[in-house]
Amino acid sequence: ALLRRHGHDPSALLQILIEAQDIDGWLPAPTLTQIAAAIKLPRARVEGVAGFYSFLYDRPVGRYRVLFSDNITDRMLGNRALMDALCRKLWVEPDKVSEDGLVSIATTSCTGLCDQGPALLVNGRAIGQLNHRRINEIAELIRQQRPLEQWPTEYFQIDDNIRRRDALLQLDMLPGAALAAAVARGREGWLAEMQASNLRGRGGAGFATAVKWASARNATEVRKVVVCNADEGEPGTFKDRVLLNTCADLVFEGMTLAAWAVGADSGFLYLRGEYRYLRPQLEAVLARRRAAGLLGKGILGEAGFDFDIAIHLGAGAYVCGEETALLESLEGKRGTPRIRPPFPVTHGYLGRPTVVNNVETLAKTCLIALEGGTAFAATGTAQSAGTKLLSISGDCAAPGIYEYPFGVSIARILEDCGASDTQAVQVGGAAGICLAAYEFQRRIAYEDVPTAGAFMIFDGSRDLFEVARAFVHFFAHESCGFCTPCRVGTALLKGFMDKLNDGHGAKADLADIDWLDRLLKNASHCGLGSAAPNPVIDTLQKFRPAYERRLVSLDFEPAFDLDAALAEARQLTARDDPGAHLQTHEEDGR
Ligand code: SF4
Repeated sequence: ALLRRHGHDPSALLQILIEAQDIDGWLPAPTLTQIAAAIKLPRARVEGVAGFYSFLYDRPVGRYRVLFSDNITDRMLGNRALMDALCRKLWVEPDKVSEDGLVSIATTSCTGLCDQGPALLVNGRAIGQLNHRRINEIAELIRQQRPLEQWPTEYFQIDDNIRRRDALLQLDMLPGAALAAAVARGREGWLAEMQASNLRGRGGAGFATAVKWASARNATEVRKVVVCNADEGEPGTFKDRVLLNTCADLVFEGMTLAAWAVGADSGFLYLRGEYRYLRPQLEAVLARRRAAGLLGKGILGEAGFDFDIAIHLGAGAYVCGEETALLESLEGKRGTPRIRPPFPVTHGYLGRPTVVNNVETLAKTCLIALEGGTAFAATGTAQSAGTKLLSISGDCAAPGIYEYPFGVSIARILEDCGASDTQAVQVGGAAGICLAAYEFQRRIAYEDVPTAGAFMIFDGSRDLFEVARAFVHFFAHESCGFCTPCRVGTALLKGFMDKLNDGHGAKADLADIDWLDRLLKNASHCGLGSAAPNPVIDTLQKFRPAYERRLVSLDFEPAFDLDAALAEARQLTARDDPGAHLQTHEEDGR
């Protein structure tokens, strides 16, 4: 039935695997064989896709699958101690399945709940605000094998925590109002309005949205596609979660506005696996919009304006936030970034012209349709029109969502969210920039501090080396492995940071980190690899004492004791003479 529902379509492979896993909790080998045969793909291809995504399992997991969010902000709130406590109470080791198959407990990358952490996912449902009392209760519920539907509903309550509203979050729009305004202008008139707005992509890169739309519109292929990138995987960001939770109509309306401009007939919302719990309510919004004639054939009575949206789930791969990796994933493949050109606007989903926009970017287009491009461009700075949503977390009194006109200073934001004794702010997530106190007059804007929205605050008690080390571990884990500089470079970087942490670091290691930075920046295939050293380089420049106090010597220090490692070999060969010891050779100069 599952395969029939997807029409035996190879491009639905990832969705088929996700749904097949829902049946048994994991993907046994015969299931992969069956799927491969049914959709006529080589079994190796199916296995390759299944092996790529961290939320797809090739071995049994517990009937209760608990994943603790492991962003640095979760760690600051004590997630590791809570995880250890749950493991002890349920007699299970981390990353293992309990002997009775009841439960498995592990960590996962940031789950987008940094404003209400520490957090976890249990069978895909999110629970925030963990503490020892709640962990005790969860352990008891699991021991009693209570279905999630019978767990206290307040566990699953996810707050929006909107602390500051500006143009977008103040917008009270009836579904269809922005669309009607754009349709009244005609396709060309609407695109002209978008051009006047100077809207730039809110996903981080800041590309001009109207230029993207015009390129797709001018592409010769008739069938065009609009994709909303809701794969919000950057550690520390959660604004898209809030927009999808409370303003889904704005997001879907924005997708339809894009379709009107470019002439697209199909759309996808690519929803990160960590936000799967939002899917039922998003499907309900889509159903409502279809019933209201805002999706489907002849939208708003306009002949030839046919457009509908499907939701596709991701499965725990950060790299799929990169637009070409996302398209690969949408086509049911491993999320490996494509070589560009050609660009998605001419050759995107299944080779069709495709517009890929961020959730916030699309929501903002409703403002432009309603108020006009010039009014939109009047807010913000010269190169950064409009407002920006920030996801604020870490050491402050009021974490949550803050919307500001571009140009707001870091100092003002820190004051508004009740931060004190701030040592550093990581803006833009792990791949972003770490700002020290002397930079707090800098401004959020593409021309100064660009960001997709993450804003993590660290006060004077935090060790910035540990912050950087956590991000480096994150990148090493999330590298897709496609290109050698990133696959090996991120692992080496992790090794250097661990070596420093273990007290074996030397000054030469810091120079090697610099060298790795250049290698990753120049030779990586996509932004993940080139950004991976950023947190280390930034903190090394601005918080060097955090590194230097970990150096045991200024000279070369091996990562481990080679002579001790040879002990077993000496024993096997029954040798323990001076010549069999490394140190003797070195001292002899041999
Ligand atoms: Fe994959 Fe890293 Fe290469 Fe990007 S840079 S393609 S994430 S291996």
